[in-house]
Amino acid sequence: MSPSPSEHRINSCPTCASQQLQSVYRVNQVTVHSVLLMPTRQAALDYPRGDIDLTYCRSCGFGFNALFRPEVHEYSTRYEETQHFSPTFSRFADELIDDCIKRYRLTPDKTLLEIGCGKGEFLLRLCEKSGCHGIGIDPAYVPDRIHSPALNRVRFIQELYHEDHGKLEADFILCRHTLEHIGPTHQFVKQVRASMHQRTDVDFFVEVPDATTTVLQPLGFWDVYYEHCSYFSAGSLAHLYRHNGLDITQLQRCYGDQYLLIGGRPAGKPATSALALECDLQEQLKHIDRFSRLIHQRVDQWRQRVKQRSDRGATVLIWGGGSKGVAFLQTTGLSEKEIPFVVDVNPYKQGKFMPGTGHEVISPQRAAQLKPEAVIVMNPIYGREVAEQLASLGAHPQILPLEDATSPDPA
Ligand SMILES: [Zn+2]
Repeated sequence: MSPSPSEHRINSCPTCASQQLQSVYRVNQVTVHSVLLMPTRQAALDYPRGDIDLTYCRSCGFGFNALFRPEVHEYSTRYEETQHFSPTFSRFADELIDDCIKRYRLTPDKTLLEIGCGKGEFLLRLCEKSGCHGIGIDPAYVPDRIHSPALNRVRFIQELYHEDHGKLEADFILCRHTLEHIGPTHQFVKQVRASMHQRTDVDFFVEVPDATTTVLQPLGFWDVYYEHCSYFSAGSLAHLYRHNGLDITQLQRCYGDQYLLIGGRPAGKPATSALALECDLQEQLKHIDRFSRLIHQRVDQWRQRVKQRSDRGATVLIWGGGSKGVAFLQTTGLSEKEIPFVVDVNPYKQGKFMPGTGHEVISPQRAAQLKPEAVIVMNPIYGREVAEQLASLGAHPQILPLEDATSPDPA
């Protein structure tokens, strides 16, 4: 399908306003949500769809879906984004919490505000460990799901973040895995900055996927999906802060280099000088060009790899019923004939169906009974956890890591 003249396109960079844009990758008719649970196969197949035109800004290195329409989104309590059922992720969250408490001096007299707190696990744990008070904002918050000794110090607002929330006073504002879901990035950070008013001692901490290490470098088409309308590099994230009058006090990669962490507070005069990690534009442009050249061949490579096995009767499963799995299946077009099931440790997902393709999500126990020949693990950081869990259940499949960045470029 070629772009129709009526197609609504974003024609300037949402982060820096430049019009020096390059369209690098297009996927049509993908579901507008990847992690909403589908109760039936039919509901999964009928889910609303939209188009992606992954477009990069050659001025700041920021990527975005130029065809994104925010009005299609439904962030309700059905939104199942939690990763806390994985021990690897819980360990990471605990370390991050300890680091935040130390780095940002989160003492019990302080109030923390989390924009996009999901079910509130992280905020509650942070308040438990620091003794702080908390405010969490998220339309997907479900009351009474999490039990925590800090519950009486934390207030949840079941809404999308909007201007009125600027009146809420906080000493530390955090926003984890939310900014990549926000289209007008500059406008959003401007709003957060405005909520600090004259205070210069409020820290703003953001965690987002690093799209350079997770999408561009590994040719990671499984990390390109409709909900993610914004794709950050370290440099473009830093630009967003500085352009809104925030100095950068922390900028680093973490979680096997998959995520970017940034912290900052209202800038003094003069502003601090650029950090090494920010100065990545020339490298970023090379990554963008390579991605644009090779991405369609990489999709085809994966399709063939699975088909060869299923053609000779071997069972191949996907491990991970989240957005990566959904994007992998929708982009490759692999059906239940080639991949009969998707496995997930999250009990809330089991028995439900993958949006767009209708694959059923099953438990690790059921997966082990199928004696799969190979399991494609949607996140390399869980590779060992998956192998160990399946081995303990008597299955020993070959583990295929998805982010095979070391494999040669497709011809
Ligand atoms: Zn830009």
